[in-house]
Amino acid sequence: MLFPRAVLPSLLHLTPQWLKERGLKGVILDLDNTLLPYGEETPLPEHRAWLEALKAEVPVYLLSNALPERFRRIQEQLGLPGHAPALKPWLGFKRALEVLGFPAREVAVVGDQVFTDVLGGNLVGAYTVLVPPLREKEFFYTRFIRMLEAPFRKPRGGLG
Ligand SMILES: [Mg+2]
Repeated sequence: MLFPRAVLPSLLHLTPQWLKERGLKGVILDLDNTLLPYGEETPLPEHRAWLEALKAEVPVYLLSNALPERFRRIQEQLGLPGHAPALKPWLGFKRALEVLGFPAREVAVVGDQVFTDVLGGNLVGAYTVLVPPLREKEFFYTRFIRMLEAPFRKPRGGLG
């Protein structure tokens, strides 16, 4: 119940073609750390472009545990159906499936968290897809850059 059906290296790998190959007709998408860095309200440009391309071909439903006011602002900006707070993993998925109008096995549940997105999606019988959390990715990226910077972060020829 805690294992996702698929693990992708990033959200950008979830394409209409990828979904089609697996018989998936709709997407239930998590918000925080999946589409948006945690606590922010605007997606990165590449994620915005990804979403536009996806929703042109596949219905997407936003399902989030975010607070309702913030969620409503984001939802208006993105132009997607959805609701929050969903109280994942226990609640919200059935309502999302009803709105999408497909059986659970034909819907991908996409998110960054095992105990909410994957567990909740598996409990209703959807096709669960785990992506890395955006914050953590940023964090590792930052660490990597710092590692590259480290040898240069002291005066030339000096003792540091
Ligand atoms: Mg999340």
